[in-house]
Amino acid sequence: MSTIRTPRRRTGIAVAAAVTAAAALTGPVSYATPAAAEKPSPGAPGLGDPMFPLDGNGGYTVDRYLLDFDWQAPKTPFEASATIKATATQSLSRFNLDFGGNTLRAVTVDGKAAGTARDGDELTVTPKSPIAKGRAFTVKVTYTADPTQTRHRDDAIEDYGWIPTPDGTVVYPQPNGARLIFPANDHPSQRAPITFRITTPKDRTAVANGKLTSRKNVSGDRVRWTYDSEQPLSTQLVQLAVGKFTMVDSTGPGGLPLRDIVPDALVEPTAKYRKLTPAHLTWLEKKLGKYPFNRYGILVGDTDLAVALETQTLSLVPKADLLGTQVDAERNLVHELAHQWFGDSVALAGWSDLWVSEGHARFYERMYSEEHGGDSFEAAMKAAYKAHDQWRRDFGAPAEPTEPNLFKRMRYDGSALVLYALREKVGDATFQQIERAWITKYTGRTASTQDYIDLASKVSGQDLEGFLKPWLYGSKTPPMPGHPDWVVDPVT
Ligand SMILES: [Zn+2]
Repeated sequence: MSTIRTPRRRTGIAVAAAVTAAAALTGPVSYATPAAAEKPSPGAPGLGDPMFPLDGNGGYTVDRYLLDFDWQAPKTPFEASATIKATATQSLSRFNLDFGGNTLRAVTVDGKAAGTARDGDELTVTPKSPIAKGRAFTVKVTYTADPTQTRHRDDAIEDYGWIPTPDGTVVYPQPNGARLIFPANDHPSQRAPITFRITTPKDRTAVANGKLTSRKNVSGDRVRWTYDSEQPLSTQLVQLAVGKFTMVDSTGPGGLPLRDIVPDALVEPTAKYRKLTPAHLTWLEKKLGKYPFNRYGILVGDTDLAVALETQTLSLVPKADLLGTQVDAERNLVHELAHQWFGDSVALAGWSDLWVSEGHARFYERMYSEEHGGDSFEAAMKAAYKAHDQWRRDFGAPAEPTEPNLFKRMRYDGSALVLYALREKVGDATFQQIERAWITKYTGRTASTQDYIDLASKVSGQDLEGFLKPWLYGSKTPPMPGHPDWVVDPVT
């Protein structure tokens, strides 16, 4: 995500201890392989991520989601179902889904009614009979969705979940609001393809990630829109929106299909900056190689929430970003587009790896902006360097965030600075090789901070562990290579 505004600073954070305690309760990450004859046991309720220990679930992987939404009107509850095709990775007596808000109606496993219990965001499902390790199974959850369910964070995320618009809705799932939209394995490392079937009144348009595969008139004055994500995606990158939209089709470099989704009244006012997408793609492809998905577009958000989000293949950009200065608009547009490589195609292994995705998005955003009338990249990095010890103290080192400070400035300019330091250390040509190798090796997969350190070492032919670890985890900011005059302000 991106917001050019300076996130509000917050003090007095004391949640780390609680998070650690919760992690201990959650138990080990559930990828352990029990012996074949092992008795069925419950899948873990979470993956033990230090930021959000209960996010994701153990004991199975999701192969596909099929989501049905019978959307009615803004802020109005509607009937929904999620059909989840999964495979057991252990012998399961029961398992969990992440699911928050909404009214649960029924759950079946392979067509048979299953037992359910809800506790916070955990939905525990007990099938009629245990599921053997390695078996494919289908869970169907029917519920009444509540499109007014919104949560809030005191960092750059602000509001997330369902965000109503005057004539429909958009969604902001990041970081873990997808569970307000549908029951899910809601952790960025858990990727699966999604089919969306959204039924709306005739005067609305529904959109979602990926390709529109059909648009059918159904009973009376209703229309059913079907979208296929084509590639797997993390739940935090889901988009589905309903509104009075115009679909604006065009073509990007290499014939890439582009489709912007724009509230009817905003088509003309936002056209000038939306038309820059092909130029942004050309610029980023020169740095990073081919765009990693089959299509792209901008969903113009008719909301007052001034936050853009890299929802996969369809970035959500609030209208205000497209009605201001060109420099600001391009910063946000290039940021979200860069995320399609960093964070979307190469997904996060865990939330502590957020610096990889936000640091890169900010790095290319600033590089582009400097070349196109924006601020000096070096000056911005020098300013981030000055503040870096303070940010380390307030928000945690780049790869060691604390949960309430996850989306604070350290993950943006503070993490772009780590990449800047690496480029100064290894030189521009080697840095570009590292970046290309990262995309080539991990496209369509998840990758961690350690993966980045290892790959940078391998590509550069030098052991960068001793260089990158203090930058990523230390409490003091290391010297900036090539800039012995740069100073860090003392912590106040
Ligand atoms: Zn971002």
